Amino acid sequence: MKRIAICPGSFDPITNGHLDIIRRGSKIFDMVYVVVMNNAVKSPLFTAEERQQLIIEATSDIPNVKVDVHSGLTVEYARMINACAILRGLRAVSDFEYEMQITSMNKVLEDNLETVFMMTNNQYSFLSSSIVKDVAKYGGDLTDLIPPNVRKALISKFI
Ligand code: ADP
Repeated sequence: MKRIAICPGSFDPITNGHLDIIRRGSKIFDMVYVVVMNNAVKSPLFTAEERQQLIIEATSDIPNVKVDVHSGLTVEYARMINACAILRGLRAVSDFEYEMQITSMNKVLEDNLETVFMMTNNQYSFLSSSIVKDVAKYGGDLTDLIPPNVRKALISKFI
């Protein structure tokens, strides 16, 4: 049986921190579905389709990654693709409480689905989509922190 993982998130936009988790996850699972969750309460900078396209381009060299958009529950999407796990990244203790809450709720909603956490790569432990947007707005250099296509997309959003 193929081991499929779903990697859900806002990805507004995808950063090298996300990419690192996706890449490492793709070595453990047969297939990783990166799913842009379209029900975020925060108002995103990029539309769900723009975020999906940026992820498709940034992951084009990883053969066992698919990218999709979903509005609704993560567990619903996971059932649809027969995923056995939710893949999430952990940056700091501050992520822990939130992740524990959603993991526990997902377990209540779907007992057969495990959540697997990967510790961030040290070089990305401070990196988030929000900080990337803040720095990009004022023209800061983000070369080593985001894929080149995301850099271009951010420049065109902010000029
Ligand atoms: P969400 O709104 O669901 O938190 P995000 O796009 O912010 O969506 O994050 C998706 C997942 O990627 C989360 O598990 C988050 O902890 C993880 N993540 C975000 N940035 C990093 C990073 N720099 N290193 C490792 N994991 C990260």
